[in-house]
Amino acid sequence: MNPQNKILFAGDPHGDFKPLIAAVHKYKPEAVVLLGDYDLDMPLEICLQDIVGLTEIWWIAGNHDFETPSKHKNLFDSALADKGLHLKVTEIAGLKIAGLGGIFLGRVWYPPQQPKWKDKLHYLHNQPANLRHAAMSLKYKGAIWHDEFEALKALKADILVTHEAPGSHRHGFDVIGELAAAMGVKNIFHGHLHENYAGTVKKNIRVFGVADRAVADLMGNTLRVGR
Ligand SMILES: [Zn+2]
Repeated sequence: MNPQNKILFAGDPHGDFKPLIAAVHKYKPEAVVLLGDYDLDMPLEICLQDIVGLTEIWWIAGNHDFETPSKHKNLFDSALADKGLHLKVTEIAGLKIAGLGGIFLGRVWYPPQQPKWKDKLHYLHNQPANLRHAAMSLKYKGAIWHDEFEALKALKADILVTHEAPGSHRHGFDVIGELAAAMGVKNIFHGHLHENYAGTVKKNIRVFGVADRAVADLMGNTLRVGR
């Protein structure tokens, strides 16, 4: 196997997993990392049943995965629920991969503005008394929270996968490059913006945007899977 194909990265499937499944059959990676926005109308392991067992499957969530209770449940209550990479570093095919799912939300934290809330408890304690014990809404659950983001900086990783883009993209956020630099990351892979591109942030950290339904290898090359 070509070493640059040992991990493949999948851009936002939005319900179409065929290109990823075809790429796994063709390139036989040790692992795949999905970059969010699945729009699941059935559990994730059912959508990916053709490749479950052929490769390790890892994921972060995108904003769409918090849109409705059923999309959320089909990911977070799926048989692959424990393969989420959000807010931790996981060793995958010999590389340390850090994950940051979700998006920046104006009502929570929208860099470079200051965060609205110190953490989730701070937010919940400032809700009207009649809402205080209600579960946090999905939209807020899918947000990137400042305290959790900062905590990630204490960890070290080779690769950072995010749904949001870093400052390499005109719609990206500089804080993601700062996070990657603090973690000693060499490469960032992100989804969300439906664009294949390569860029750079900070200390020569390479950034690869992976378009919707596209699949990229470890060098950031978009793979041809006959779609
Ligand atoms: Zn998205």
